[in-house]
Amino acid sequence: MARPLLKVAMVGHVDHGKSTLIGRLLLETHSLPDGKAKEIENISKGLGKEAELAYLTDQFREERENNMTIDTTQVFFKTRKAHYAVIDSPGHVEFIKNMLTGAAQADAAILVVDAQEGLKEQSRRHAFLVDLLGVKKLIVVFNKMDLVNYKETSFVEKKSVLLRFLKGLNGRPLNIIPVSAKENVNISKRSTRTRWYRGPSLLEALDALAPAAESSNAPLRFPVQDVYEIDGQKILVGQILSGKIAAGQKVTLLPSMRSAVIRSMKIFGRSPGKAFAGESIGLILREPVSVSRGEVLVEKKCAPVPTTHFTGNVFWISALPLRVDAAVTLRCATQELRGRIIGIRNRMDSSALEILEKRARRLHANETGAVSFVTEKPLVVERSCPLNGLGRFVIEQDFQMQGAGIIS
Ligand code: GDP
Repeated sequence: MARPLLKVAMVGHVDHGKSTLIGRLLLETHSLPDGKAKEIENISKGLGKEAELAYLTDQFREERENNMTIDTTQVFFKTRKAHYAVIDSPGHVEFIKNMLTGAAQADAAILVVDAQEGLKEQSRRHAFLVDLLGVKKLIVVFNKMDLVNYKETSFVEKKSVLLRFLKGLNGRPLNIIPVSAKENVNISKRSTRTRWYRGPSLLEALDALAPAAESSNAPLRFPVQDVYEIDGQKILVGQILSGKIAAGQKVTLLPSMRSAVIRSMKIFGRSPGKAFAGESIGLILREPVSVSRGEVLVEKKCAPVPTTHFTGNVFWISALPLRVDAAVTLRCATQELRGRIIGIRNRMDSSALEILEKRARRLHANETGAVSFVTEKPLVVERSCPLNGLGRFVIEQDFQMQGAGIIS
């Protein structure tokens, strides 16, 4: 059987060791491009052992700086059990944007916490976001254990602060692992430096995560991204968010509720009989119905109900506060609609997880709250499905993303 691909978001406060840990995972799994491992080895011979990962880390940074157009870096490695894509964002704001817009659809997350410093503001916010987005598989690593001499007491003390904080969230970490990315402790195998620790190494913990839920078994969701006309034939293009589509299948178009039958499909010049979640395809309908961007193809028996009123847990990033009554543009999958804020049920600090105000008029940067919207036209959204593109939305004002939310 093919090895599953697991997308893992690397999150945590700046300088707690995310890049170093990525470098270490690449080295330990022999996933560096040809020549790079040798290059690092040669450099470390000259400079001493310390240099190897710092050098690798610098290389990552340099590559990013040369590549400012992309917000997310994906780094790949594999073990005997699975392929991994590590999603790493260059900064805090980029990370939040990537997580909220779904650019980074992570199956799992590794929260990196400095063992000496413990949880910091960004560690808390990231943990909150990972939880808000429904990423159930969370592994916490306390990194830089070398700086606390691998002492169990330091680990236990920081771990209890972490667990107290996580009580305010829904999820629980699957593992809490003491590591040193720098000294290669508890990365691929358990080290004798932490004899008191009984759990798995980081790679063992990752390999134990079950493959991501088979999204092809979920109900069909196909948001239309564009409609092309080629030789008089209309082709609906987009990516299947979940489920599968087959030629001859009857589908319902939302929000209009019209039905249609799939005549054929196209993927890169081929005309397959079936297509699955994750695939980008072109669809040709049997009926000459007019379809436009933003419509969503579903199966009638498990279709979400389009709505003009909904509430979402919003995370606000803009320096300009979100206000009740403000007009906003909402994007959800390929849908784009005008809407208005009709209420903010509560306002919470995403780092302290404390309610600051009930029935608020404004939501400030880095705050989160239950916000109610009304839209000009019905929107196809889905509750409790944050990992599916219809469960999350982006809020724009003046053509800029100002915040995002999860349908609640
Ligand atoms: P990021 O901002 O989270 O990506 O952090 P970096 O990976 O850039 O690391 C920040 C600093 O911490 C660098 O100077 C690293 O060399 C150092 N560092 C990372 N991991 C360890 C570790 O396990 N032990 C020690 N002592 N330093 C580490």
